[in-house]
Amino acid sequence: MSAVLFAANWKMHHGPRAARALAQAVLAGTKPVADRLLLFFPPAVSLPAVVEAVRGRTDAAVGAQNIHWEPKGAFTGELSALLAMEAGATWTLVGHSERRHKFGETDDETGLKVRAALGAGLRPMLCVGETLQQRTDGEKENVVRRQLEAGVGALGAEELARVAVAYEPVWAIGTGVNATPADAAAMHRTIREWFARRGAPAAGCSVLYGGSVSPENAAALLAEEELDGVLVGGASLTAESWLRIVATPRAGR
Ligand code: PEP
Repeated sequence: MSAVLFAANWKMHHGPRAARALAQAVLAGTKPVADRLLLFFPPAVSLPAVVEAVRGRTDAAVGAQNIHWEPKGAFTGELSALLAMEAGATWTLVGHSERRHKFGETDDETGLKVRAALGAGLRPMLCVGETLQQRTDGEKENVVRRQLEAGVGALGAEELARVAVAYEPVWAIGTGVNATPADAAAMHRTIREWFARRGAPAAGCSVLYGGSVSPENAAALLAEEELDGVLVGGASLTAESWLRIVATPRAGR
């Protein structure tokens, strides 16, 4: 039985005090269970506060929202995988659509970041997903396969087993319009097939869905057995909303 991942991306919200309080409220509202992993992605400045809040909880971990691929040096404003580790992170997002579309992050850079993460001992969660135009053009699978190829295509089967993928269609992020459960499941199958062709064990690859997940639609999405979890932005910003999502029953797991 693999754990269901509930990942909270707080984006540029919640400084150390608010982040610690929110993490504490979420943890106080959940019992540690073996089949669920709570992942917190706070702003970099709040990493130590959230790490402190999750200490002692085996069902919770903390990650960076972004890393640079170089281990150190003259990269003002950047965070290396080693620095994130030193702050207590064990995961990192790579290639979130806001990094790709607002900051011009390229496919090749996601590959460098994934390798830097794995080299430092962080687990990368590679975010992939098509724009509305690419979807309309019938290109969504090609786009996602290309992003997988660039992000994790150079990895061997053992390294692939340490990677999670979040399918986040760009048109669904922060818009209130989610992919249908069936659409999300279909893309998750495409992602799993890609991993299987690389020799990665199907069970070793966690594939999450992200894009306007809410307390109202989480149950329908997680009823799809292809979904190993959810990556949530807006609806993870308050304990009330996030706890309702985290409490979603998962039939058959
Ligand atoms: C995200 O930031 O990864 C995300 C999915 O945001 P939202 O849940 O707000 O759509």
